[in-house]
Amino acid sequence: MTISSHASPSTDPAVSARESLLEFRNVRIVYDNAIEAIRDVSIAVPEGGIVALLGSNGAGKSTLLKAMSGILYTEEGEIENGSISFRGKNVHHLTPDGLVRRGIVQVPEGRRVFPALTIDENLQMGGYTKSAAEIRQQREKVFALFPRLYERRGQIAGYMSGGEQQMLAIGRALMTGPVLLALDEPSLGLAPLIIDRIYEVIAKLRDEMKLTVLLVEQNAQRALDICDYAYILETGRVVLDGTPRKLSANEDVQEFYLGVSGSGKKSMRDVKHYKRRKRWLS
Ligand code: ATP
Repeated sequence: MTISSHASPSTDPAVSARESLLEFRNVRIVYDNAIEAIRDVSIAVPEGGIVALLGSNGAGKSTLLKAMSGILYTEEGEIENGSISFRGKNVHHLTPDGLVRRGIVQVPEGRRVFPALTIDENLQMGGYTKSAAEIRQQREKVFALFPRLYERRGQIAGYMSGGEQQMLAIGRALMTGPVLLALDEPSLGLAPLIIDRIYEVIAKLRDEMKLTVLLVEQNAQRALDICDYAYILETGRVVLDGTPRKLSANEDVQEFYLGVSGSGKKSMRDVKHYKRRKRWLS
């Protein structure tokens, strides 16, 4: 079986019918002037949807998010080619602060909350670009979304469970009043029931708060259950993209990302990497 490699931002009618809010176009990213992490990647994120970036370790998912949030330079990374646009305007030259003010915010991998501050103080910090009245309003929305944070608002963030810290990290990002929220591996290291809660909230962000979400996940099943469109990255390239329905029906996706094969469950570790690469890029 052959999977053709990716050509351009989505040609899927469901996606192209809506205008893209965020667009990566032919992006190439290099670290330390030497390591090519992203090669000619084009990705479209339509307004009001959830787009997932899937792929295994080192595929380049986090690099794309860092580029979108203006923090690549902190790791000697640089966009050498292509563009990132938001509402049709180039934004890849903007500072992280400038991007937040335009409505782009990222929840980084690893739930980086301020451990010595209370939940409430963490949220207040998140609202640094907002007026006092806006902070109050956003805080109410966050507490409505996460009643658990309200109950524990006076407690020190560092003592909370992993799931609560993930809620706080998302809540703090929401305090900026974003248009587009990028989430880097929100399910990482969490128990299945907690992941259910987090994903319920992600669905609410789209369905009730009308946010656009760019979701980076290694847990392909979770992401495909919720997203409207997904891209699969391998070693810095998009090798496949489509609706969750299309991707879930793809045999290679089933085998390598959903852990299912004709002969039953199969671990990705059991499969020789080169075989997959050869098929996907041929
Ligand atoms: P993970 O899920 O493990 O975070 P990922 O898909 O997010 O994987 P990236 O972290 O974006 O992948 O890494 C893409 C490539 O860039 C990898 O080859 C990685 O080694 C390299 N890379 C990432 N960060 C740096 C850095 N700061 N300096 C040099 N190379 C880097």
